Formats: sequence, C-alpha cells, structure tokens
Amino acid sequence: MTGIFDNDPQSNTVNNTDTPGAAAVSDAEALTASWQRVTQRMRKDIGEAAWRSWIKPLSVSRLEDGTLTLEASSSLARERVNSQFADRLRVMSAAEFGNVQQVEVRIARAAGRKLPSAPPRITDNAPARSPEKDELLAGLDPRYTFANFVVGKPNELAFAVARRTAESETVAFNPLFLYGGVGLGKTHLMHAIAWHIREQAPNRKVMYLSAEKFMYRFVRALRFRDTMSFKEQFRSVDVLMIDDVQFISGKDSTQEEFFHTFNALVEDGRQVIISADKSPTDLEGMEERLRSRLGWGMVADIHPADYELRLGILQAKAEQAQINIPDKVLEFIAHRIASNVRELEGALNRIMAHAMLVGREITIDSTADLLADLLRASSRRISVDAIQKRVAAHYGIRVSEMFSTRRARDIARPRQVAMYLSKILTSLSYPEIGRQFGGRDHTTVMHAVRAVESHIETNPQIAEDVQLLKSLLSN
Ligand code: ADP
Ligand code: MG
Repeated sequence: MTGIFDNDPQSNTVNNTDTPGAAAVSDAEALTASWQRVTQRMRKDIGEAAWRSWIKPLSVSRLEDGTLTLEASSSLARERVNSQFADRLRVMSAAEFGNVQQVEVRIARAAGRKLPSAPPRITDNAPARSPEKDELLAGLDPRYTFANFVVGKPNELAFAVARRTAESETVAFNPLFLYGGVGLGKTHLMHAIAWHIREQAPNRKVMYLSAEKFMYRFVRALRFRDTMSFKEQFRSVDVLMIDDVQFISGKDSTQEEFFHTFNALVEDGRQVIISADKSPTDLEGMEERLRSRLGWGMVADIHPADYELRLGILQAKAEQAQINIPDKVLEFIAHRIASNVRELEGALNRIMAHAMLVGREITIDSTADLLADLLRASSRRISVDAIQKRVAAHYGIRVSEMFSTRRARDIARPRQVAMYLSKILTSLSYPEIGRQFGGRDHTTVMHAVRAVESHIETNPQIAEDVQLLKSLLSN
C-alpha cells in the first residue's frame, strides 16, 4: 500500500529513544526539525485551513518517556487540538520520532518564548478581526465548510438552501430551518454558512451557538439580573444561528425568550438560521406559536445518507487524508454502516489509523475485525422499511399496502401491526412513523399502537404474530 509515510527519506534521521545507546532526542534543533515534518504531514492530512488554525501555532517542547509535549497559546487551541487532532498527532509523531505513546498539549506559560501571541486565526486572507467577532464564532469547526460537504440526493436541498443563504447579500429565507436525524450534517452546514459569510461578507455580524448555550446564557443573565445586555447582545447581530433547537423543548422561559429574540430579529430583517432533529411541526414540547413561527420561512430536511452518498463521503475523506484504501473496503463500510455520517467517519478513521500504524494492506477481513463492535451495533438498529417488508411478507400482502389508504381488515390489521412494531422497535416519534406510512397523521399511528396493544391482550393469534415478528426483526 502507499502509506503516507513511505518514500520519506527523512523519517529516520531522528534517533529513536528506544534504541539503547542512541542519543535521546534532546537536541532542541533536531526536535524542532522533526516536529516540522510532523506538522507538514498533518497539513496534508487535515487540509490547509485547519492546519493553519490549529497545528501551525503549536510549538514542540520536549519528548520524554514516550510523551511528546506540545505547547498551545490558549486553552481554546489546546482543547481543539486535544479533541480533534490528538489521535492523528500521536500516530504521525510516532512515525517520525519512533517512541511516542502520548501527545500532551499544555498552555505555554513562560513569557518571551517564541510563541504565537495571537489566538489562532482561521484564515489568512480575512481582514483583521475584533476579539468580539472571534467570540461570536468560537467553537466553529474549521473542517465544516461547504467544500468539505459531500452532496447527494438525501442532502441536496439542505445544501442548496444553506449555500443560497450564505451567499445572499440580503435575507434569503427567514428563518432557514434545517432538520434531520443525528449525525447527518446539520452542524456541518451551519458552520459552513458561518465560515462563508465570515469570509465573503466580514462586515455582517454572525453569531452561532447551540440552543443549550443560548439557554445557559439566558439563565445566567437571569441570575445576575442582566437580561438587558443579554437581549442586546443577541439583537445586535445580522445573522443568528441556533443549533439543535429541540434542546429547549419543555424549557418554557427559555422558549419565551427565544421567541422574542427570534421575532425581534426577523422583524428587523436579520437572518435567522435554526437546526433541529425534527421538523417544526414535530417538535414536541414547543409552544404552538413558536412551532408555527419556525416553519414560516424555508424548511429543509436532511435525509439519512443512502448507499451512494455514504460511499461518496468515504471516498472524499480517504482521498483528503491521502490514504489508500481499496474500493472494496470502502464499499463494504458503506454497505454495513448505514446509521449516520458521524459513525461512518468514526469507522473510516479507525481503518485509516490502523493503515498508518501497521502499514499492511487493508482487506475486507481486517476491516470486519477492526469494526466488529460498530458492525454489530449497526445491524441491531431496525428501520421502518425493514419492519414493513417483514410484516407484509408475514401476512402475504404487498409492501405498497403499507402506504395505501385501503381499509379492508386483512390490509389494515397488518399495517397497524407494522406501526406498532415501528413504535416499539425504533426511536421514531408518532409523526415520523406516520410519515413513513404514506403520510398518515400521528393520531392514526397512536390509535394503531393502542389497538394492537389491546389485541395482544385479547387475541392469542395476534399476540403470537407480534412475538414472532419481533424476534425475527430483532436478530
Ligand atoms: P448533526 O449536526 O446533524 O448531528 P454533524 O454536522 O455534526 O451532524 O455531522 C456529523 C459528522 O459527519 C461531521 O463530522 C460532519 O462533517 C460529517 N458529515 C455529515 N454529512 C456530511 C457530508 N454530506 N459530507 C461530509 N461530511 C459530512
Ligand atoms: Mg449537530
């Protein structure tokens, strides 16, 4: 295989601390030189923007007992490096230095050292920014850009409206409401919008935060009787993005405040962008007026990635990392890990780390071994689709009857059983299940679930059917 460490004649120039008698890497210059090579590898691996922001500003401090110590200029930088790049740094440092089991990032203490004094910058070409602006966008992931987002059928609408919103000088859709299941790219798209506006229209004041943070700040403002400045802070932005708004479901006073902030901004012609795990109408625990208000602008959903998109994402990420993974292996992963993109990425990262470390060809067998736990978890999850097929087969009806409006008993009964099984075997809500049964209302699903529950009590045949189907589906 072509590992990224091949054909690098330099990689053995620094003594391995394992070798008896060899000088340990104590020489500061050698250490720095080696560290430079590690950072160049990181640069290829994670891309220019992320590298400039997070890796380049690091400096190397020492290598002792298998621990490579690096210094960062701020706690933000340290956290980011630890949370996102620690594994790669370890693998790449191990390849360069030999004996590195651990990479530690400290905050630089001593003044007067050769350290970048400014906090990491995200882009070089952007004009100088006020600290206040950096604060508004703190926590944006440099990898979450439009360029890094792979588009396919399931997410093309969300991608298109996100781009439109980011590019538009004026308010495009208000609010823009993005929704979809966990790990499907909502946060990625939101960050991408923020990055884009930040670069293309640096004068527009963009604020991104999770609904959880919003609530946290609100509660703090209440506690310190400082709601005025809280309000001002939010109402002075041009673009407000709130991620995972479902978090404030059931939190009444936060919702109330959010509603007012939201209205004030929209009425003033500022752009509001919201994400959630459900559509506005399905957000349980949200006040009716807020739900309806959230649905006024553009609502775009991200569907679970289909096989093609999953494969596309895997190919793009492997290519970015410049790690050669056989097509067969990528196809295998795309087939077997269907849950969400985050898990897909996790699986790929594991395979890539392995490839870098052992340098042996990756095969389907070794992949299956490495991913055994993920593959098991993935096959345990049950889809409504699978339930409908299984139930239809059991009762000898066509799958299409699951979506039809026919009410004949021999059709309606199996359909109800399928709805019931969907409720107990998946984590979907009533409205979501209704939608997958030909767009039925959530009350229909609730009724079906109750009906089957009571049949199970009174009708042994149904009880047996349900039991059998349940065990067939759970394996
Ligand atoms: P969500 O916010 O919907 O839970 P995220 O935006 O955090 O999901 O996405 C999870 C991970 O999957 C992130 O690392 C993200 O970059 C990646 N991801 C999701 N969709 C795509 C895509 N279409 N192309 C590339 N990466 C994606
Ligand atoms: Mg998210």
